[in-house]
This record gives sequence, structure tokens and C-alpha cells, in this order.
Amino acid sequence: STFLMQPCPDDPILSLIGMFRDDPRSTKIDLSVGVFRNEEGQTPVLHAVKQAESHLVATQPTKTYLGPVGNTAFTAAVARMAFGEARAQRLSGLQTPGGTGALRVAADLLARNANTGRIWIGLPTWSNHIPVFEAAGLEILTYGAIDIAAQRFDLDALQAALAAARPGDAVLLQGCCHNPTGIDPDSAQWAAIAALLEEKGLLPLIDLAYQGLGRGISEDGEAAGRVLDTVPDALVAYSCNKNFGLYRERVGALFIQAENAAARQAAASNAADLVRANYSMPPDHGAAVVACILGDAQLTQDWKAELEAMRTRLATIRNALAEACSTHGLALEAIARQRGMFSRLALAPSAISALREEHAIYMAPDGRINLAGLAMADVARLAAALARECAP
Ligand code: PMP
Repeated sequence: STFLMQPCPDDPILSLIGMFRDDPRSTKIDLSVGVFRNEEGQTPVLHAVKQAESHLVATQPTKTYLGPVGNTAFTAAVARMAFGEARAQRLSGLQTPGGTGALRVAADLLARNANTGRIWIGLPTWSNHIPVFEAAGLEILTYGAIDIAAQRFDLDALQAALAAARPGDAVLLQGCCHNPTGIDPDSAQWAAIAALLEEKGLLPLIDLAYQGLGRGISEDGEAAGRVLDTVPDALVAYSCNKNFGLYRERVGALFIQAENAAARQAAASNAADLVRANYSMPPDHGAAVVACILGDAQLTQDWKAELEAMRTRLATIRNALAEACSTHGLALEAIARQRGMFSRLALAPSAISALREEHAIYMAPDGRINLAGLAMADVARLAAALARECAP
């Protein structure tokens, strides 16, 4: 064959999905998925989204091309919602195919920029981060940002690693609801990070994929806003796929802040040029839905209420699981302090297999659990199983 290549290894999460589907036990619990689920285990389309979709079908006048930067009403509305009016004024936005698309356009932009080419990534991190930056040809430098055994953010490790950073290096930071740990820096730690970025002339790339699923829309945007206010140049890769439940519609944006209008314009036009040579322009539908919601006061209010229900469910499950674990003498109260869908348990691979084989409890091979995969009715059973399989 012309194809002189070896197959890629299977994605471990995909094979878990197959095992879960084929598991006949009615008590099975799936904590491995990467999407929000309600108490009934479903990921329904939001009412606000359904309404906006009906409205679009009835009124959309044309399907003609939008161009590489996509829907500008969408990017402007997301920037205002995410960061506030004043900061939005300082940003150039491009609609992208999801947060992943935004990360890849950002990576291509960094690779094209003369004085960078390197990116610092704190570990553990979302499993697709390193592949995206590698694919763009960036040099990747990692450090241990989160201490899983202690379930805490390790500011000292970040500061020690970035002491060796060169001016112009990019630094990837997750803005809220860290994937896979739920462990975000606190406000004082963010202040120290922002000051370090500014002092060393580093370029933050903030990945904001879960705004509104942690503490609230504005609270979850605070860290990104603080960084934007502290450094001259910054990139934000934004995803609307979780907070609007639009996953497969691929809704996201890349925002660019630069020291002056000329630099910002140059960076934005290069990003658009890279998009043109890649996927030409983003898909329309999901971003049109978000623009419709954010452009209508009633739909915005409906969406915020639905987002709040998602956030409340996650917080309720976190508190219930931490509480149930403590009755078994398991010190997992950190789960109640963490935010968003994920936590990562410090479990041996043998414990993760035993949970699956003996208790039909499925989680990612690294011990990541999605709290949204847990129904209130299953909390006690999960805590008991964890106590059995994980006791030292
Ligand atoms: N960043 C992080 C941290 C994520 O967890 C995800 C999705 N799992 C993304 C970005 C990208 O999501 P999407 O491309 O679906 O917007």
C-alpha cells in the first residue's frame, strides 16, 4: 500500500464505553464520560437551545458563506458574557469549531510567530492538550502543577518551572473547572500566576471550557479576566459546548488580546489566514444558536437558569459523595471543594479494575471521575465500593 503507517493505539476511553455498554449488570455506573448528565443519566438539549433553533429555522434568510472569522455577533456576545464589556473591547475574536478548534488555531498561531514556538503545560491535564500542540509543531515543556495525592494545586512547582521560561514562551492555563482534577488555583494563587506571567513576558493561553459549571458565570471568568488585566498579550480558547450543551455542534472561539491595535490586528489576520488554509471557516449552526440566545433577554435568562441547574447538580453530588465517603472513614472531602465535572482519585490501577469488575463502576484509567455520571441514588454505593477497594 501507499500507506506505510502503523495503526494508532485505541483510545482507552472508547474501549471503556464499549465495555460499559456490554456490561449486563443493571447497577452499572458510568463515571468515565466527558459530558454533563442529569439525575436520569441523560444529556438533553437545553430548552433555550431548542427555542433558538426553532427561531433560526423559521427566520434564517440564507446559508451563504460567513468567512474564516465566523459569526461576529457570536464572538462579540460571548466576549461580553465571559469577560465583561470593557475587556471585550480589547479582544479580537474568531469563531472556531469548538474549544479544540480554538486551541489548534492558537497553537498554529504560536508556531508561526517568530519569537515563541514553546509552550508550558501543567500536568495532569486534558488528554488532548499535548496532541493538539504537538500537531502544530510546538515544543512542549511540562511540570507537575497538581499534587494528586494531596489533592491541591502546587503553585511552588509552577513558579519553579516557569523560572526557566524565556520571554515569549506560551503558558497553557485552564481558566476554571480543571480537567481532569477539578482543582483550580485560588484567588491569591491566580494573582501570583498573573504577576509571574507579566514579570517574565510570557504569553498566557487560557483554556476556558466550563464557564458557569463551577461557581457561576462571572465567578468562573474571574481568573481569566485577572490575567487579561495583568498582561499585555494573551489568548483565550473558549468552548460553548459544555455550558450550552451543544457538544456535537462544535461551538467555540479564539480571543486575542495584544499590547496595541496593530499587533492585535496582525495576530488576528494571521489566525484568519491559518483558518483559511485549514478548515476555511467554522460551521454555522451552533454559534448561531448561541448568538440567538445571548441576543435575547428572555432566552438568556432561560439559559442561565438551565446552566445553574447543571452547576447545582454537580455541587450537590460533590457534597453528597464527600459526606458519604467520610462516613466510611475515607478522607475525600476535597471532592466537595473541587469544581466542575471532574475529580481525579489517587487510585492504583488494581483498585480501578476491581471497581469495574466487582462493582460495575467505570472510570477513566487514570482515576478521573465525572461527577455528572453519578445519580444521587448511587452515591452511597459508590462510597462503599471506594471504601472497600481503596482502603490502604
Ligand atoms: N479544554 C478542555 C479542558 C476540555 O476538557 C475540553 C473538552 N473535553 C475542551 C477544551 C474542548 O472541548 P470542545 O472542543 O468540545 O469545545
